[in-house]
Amino acid sequence: MSLREILLWPDARLSRKCRPVEKITPDIRQLAADMLETMYAAPGRGLAAPQVGELLRLFVMDTTWKEGAATPRVFINPQILQADGAQQVGSEGCLSLPGISTDIARHRRVLMRWTNLDGAQHEGALEGFDAVCAQHEMDHLDGVMTLDRLEGDERARVLRAYSGALA
Ligand code: ZN
Repeated sequence: MSLREILLWPDARLSRKCRPVEKITPDIRQLAADMLETMYAAPGRGLAAPQVGELLRLFVMDTTWKEGAATPRVFINPQILQADGAQQVGSEGCLSLPGISTDIARHRRVLMRWTNLDGAQHEGALEGFDAVCAQHEMDHLDGVMTLDRLEGDERARVLRAYSGALA
């Protein structure tokens, strides 16, 4: 395994729509393993393939390791089948926007379908922080950053804070 470089916004690769993974090859397994290692080292709870420059529909997450036991998960070609109507606003950070957190509205619960590294399809409901994290990572696969969900003054404020954080 090896650490991959995490791209920082506004790298153009973070704004591209990613293509599906066609086959679970050794390269894809390697990518997933490297992404988990990179995410833990960052340290973060989620990382999407475009954040390491691979424009593929794949993300990894582990929402429990910072507080207790690790639960690494790999989502390949994920889809949201159904989202609960209710949305909740929460503060989100992003490894590609260091030093910045933004208030974003997300569904409290999503029903998802994805492929695992063993090639099998899974379906499951994610709730709470799992749901928020998965929606954040899904956005990355469509080239959408948290920033892109902000408007007007709020976006301008965050952009100023980001230039400050990078300086
Ligand atoms: Zn992110």
